[in-house]
Amino acid sequence: MKTLQLRDLYDRFRDPATIKGLAALIAEDAKRLREPLHIMEVCGGHTHTIMKYGLNQLLPENIEFVHGPGCPVCIMPKERIDNAVELANIDGVILCTLGDMIRVPGSGSSLANERAKGRDIRSLYSPLDLIEIAKSNPEKRVVYFAIGFETTTPMTAAVIKRAVKEGVKNLFFHINHVLVPPPMHILMADEEAKIDAFIGPAHVSVITGSKIYEPFPEKYSTPVVVSGFEPVDVMHSIAMIVKQKIEGRAEVEVQYSRSVSREGNVAAQRMIEETMEVRESFRWRGIGDIEKSALRLRDEYRDFDAEAVFADYLSHEPIDDHKLCICGTILKGLAKPYECRVFGKACTPNTPLGSCMVSSEGACNAYYRFGGVS
Ligand code: SF4
Ligand code: SF4
Repeated sequence: MKTLQLRDLYDRFRDPATIKGLAALIAEDAKRLREPLHIMEVCGGHTHTIMKYGLNQLLPENIEFVHGPGCPVCIMPKERIDNAVELANIDGVILCTLGDMIRVPGSGSSLANERAKGRDIRSLYSPLDLIEIAKSNPEKRVVYFAIGFETTTPMTAAVIKRAVKEGVKNLFFHINHVLVPPPMHILMADEEAKIDAFIGPAHVSVITGSKIYEPFPEKYSTPVVVSGFEPVDVMHSIAMIVKQKIEGRAEVEVQYSRSVSREGNVAAQRMIEETMEVRESFRWRGIGDIEKSALRLRDEYRDFDAEAVFADYLSHEPIDDHKLCICGTILKGLAKPYECRVFGKACTPNTPLGSCMVSSEGACNAYYRFGGVS
């Protein structure tokens, strides 16, 4: 009997014949569109799929992808990265964070630079490792620079609750968890931005449920289709959006129904609600201050809050991006990475000038690796 391999599960979602079949269906239906259709994929995971599988090349001329702000690394403003560097430089601190955050340049340094200079900075596979790190280093203070959209927030909440339960006193949290709907509203209000429909994030929606997108069809008549990450998922979602457009509908639909419900993961939502609350405002790199677009720890957890405990070490002034970097314009969907003067020249994944080039989910990085530049 054949053993089930991982690729048996995803092969169907990458099947070239199915992708081409969907492309033909989209092309046929797109003839009935009255105007060009600009579809924003909010999530960097989708940008990665679109570029890796060349899906943009399979679309008819009257459909265009617009790359959105959906990568927590790309949207982190420099002053918050500076905070991470400042925290890492406090004697006796172990600074922990996730993935590519280590490489993103702040105003003067990056966590990778500070690590090379000997600071104890660790990239985690899972935030759950924090409890073990704190317990095995009782003489140190462990600070978690927490990043991510609604996807990773429940893990941070779970660690906070566990730290309380197990009496861990040397673990602190610098919370940078951001929310997906607020920047979508800002983009819809921007008169320059050309967005006629959204492809909704997959992982975020597993937690939040598809209900968070319901204001978009209601308020702006803009369809939202929550999509899985595989190429067949994305093409299927585009076909669903085109169908809505030609039928004159604007609705929230879930293509990724194998994992996303309307209500989402209610237990995870409750855990977030218990530990965190919405901030007044948070600065998004490239977009600016957005009200109620991020989370902070609730006052009951002040003893764990790195922003309160280490307040004297942290700077707060907003810092502008590198003069040549147009990450902000790209994040708004107003330009493509290759329109940046330094794209692929001074700015590459090994020498990133802006955050869109650092993260594998950043638009510039995806264009560099899969757009025939590298
Ligand atoms: S963190 Fe989530 S929403 Fe952001 S780019 Fe990755 S998968 Fe998409
Ligand atoms: S190529 Fe580099 S400098 Fe230009 S927008 Fe992208 S990240 Fe910024």
